[in-house]
Amino acid sequence: MSEKEPPNPFEEIQRQLKELFKDSNVKVSAHNFSEADPFGDDESEGPGETPEAPDSDAQALENIRNFHLKPKEIRDYLNRFVIRQDEAKKVLSVAICDHYNHVRQTLAGEAGEATEYSKQNLLFLGPTGVGKTYLMKSVARLIGVPFVKADATKFSETGYVGSDVEDLVRDLVKAADGNIELAEKGIIFVDEIDKIASEAGAGGRDVSGRGVQINLLKLMEETEVNLFSPTDMMSQMQAVMEMQRGGKPRRKSINTKNILFIVSGAFDKLAESIKKRVSQNELGFGATVSAKDEDLSAYLQLAETGDFIKYGFEPEFIGRVPVRCACSALSAADLAHIMTTSEGSVLHQYRDDFRGYGINFDITPEAIVAIAESASKEGTGARGIMTVLERIFRDYKFELPSTAIKHFEVTTGMIENPAACLQALKAKNAHLQQDVWESDVKRFAKAFEKTHGFTLEFKPLAVEALIIEASEKDRTIQSLCEEKFKDFEHGLNIIHRNTGQTVFKLGKLAIADPDKELSKWVVRCIESTKEK
Ligand code: ADP
Repeated sequence: MSEKEPPNPFEEIQRQLKELFKDSNVKVSAHNFSEADPFGDDESEGPGETPEAPDSDAQALENIRNFHLKPKEIRDYLNRFVIRQDEAKKVLSVAICDHYNHVRQTLAGEAGEATEYSKQNLLFLGPTGVGKTYLMKSVARLIGVPFVKADATKFSETGYVGSDVEDLVRDLVKAADGNIELAEKGIIFVDEIDKIASEAGAGGRDVSGRGVQINLLKLMEETEVNLFSPTDMMSQMQAVMEMQRGGKPRRKSINTKNILFIVSGAFDKLAESIKKRVSQNELGFGATVSAKDEDLSAYLQLAETGDFIKYGFEPEFIGRVPVRCACSALSAADLAHIMTTSEGSVLHQYRDDFRGYGINFDITPEAIVAIAESASKEGTGARGIMTVLERIFRDYKFELPSTAIKHFEVTTGMIENPAACLQALKAKNAHLQQDVWESDVKRFAKAFEKTHGFTLEFKPLAVEALIIEASEKDRTIQSLCEEKFKDFEHGLNIIHRNTGQTVFKLGKLAIADPDKELSKWVVRCIESTKEK
């Protein structure tokens, strides 16, 4: 580890900014910590706020000080969200308990000094979309610690091209809303770790990947990370502004000793090489794995330290992730199980989305099986469920909120041909549509009255004309009326000033050409006042 601090290229800028703001009242809004995406990705999550989740940072810290969970309690909590992955749940529950028991003891000054504590950093292996991230997100939520996720491929050794691994720690502070003490007990998840290893071969090792491994290693051990990135202008400004405000000097760095690291990756090639290794020794293999040939990922269960080193990991790095676990691929039956039983299932999310419009749906067991089979073919684990549901529901989500339909059924027929089923559903409910459109017209008239103080009474023929035009042009009644009666109030005001009239009856002609009709009314009104 280098002892010398790297020169800070922004020192001069900092100094100049300090000068600049010295005598001014200029306020520059500081970086808003709460804007950070704590998960560092845009995957959609199922609904999952739980009663156990602490509702404030202070509460979260208090919970860590009183950490009392047992591995089986964590496992039971994970079972509510994550299907299968029993071994991973077991390994994770134990690692989490050991880690946070140790943190609690350290905070209470009770940690044993005789033995040096080795952090329980974890390595998850296994195909994409099988719950590796989901397990960690769920456990972080249960304990109430901040969590960040990033792909190892986005880091470069220097941080000048690509990100610096230390950014992960700074992101953790953002995820903790700036609470450094809480961030120091958070969880960092680095995915695609297999991509920064490359087999030592003819071309030698990937130097950059090796550098990233070494940088990560420093974080996993214990280091102080500067809160203000030397390459981030915004942070530099923030540092200056804070000094400017003259408040209590805040901490400038965060210690990584108690941050838990999880690295994960698909490791497909590793599975192949393990398969080769074990098949050379049929005896050992037959006794330990019941993998079918096509499910290569099952071989990952047999990964040994030597396999990782051969794969291209630095021995020191792999030594820092002592807890390893392979997550298994999910079958179509598992995906069906996820849809029906996981509390975070995306199917619940779709239900909530429809419920937002007062619409409910039932789904037949056969349809669940059909969706699961189709999702399984996507080859992206449980993420396939989202892809399939999106395809099925897309037009329903767009069309149904504007109809009178409040209930529908998801059947295998609908999965095979969602468009045809939607048409049939709409046709079956066409008789109810009239009421919806009529109430849309009333809604517009009410809003118009509220804004301009004039009552528009649409006669039945006017309503009919509006409905016909809206369906022909595939427009909503609302937008059609807004366009037709834009600036209508000016003419109505002239009539009102002359006659005191506030209620106006609109017939078919007022729909066909509203401006022409309004001009007619105005002329007629002026003429009649002249006559008087
Ligand atoms: P990865 O294994 O690539 O990290 P994720 O954990 O991010 O995959 O899974 C993506 C999404 O798929 C999750 O947010 C979750 O909704 C769903 N999912 C994946 N695996 C499972 C599982 N075993 N049980 C329940 N849901 C799962």
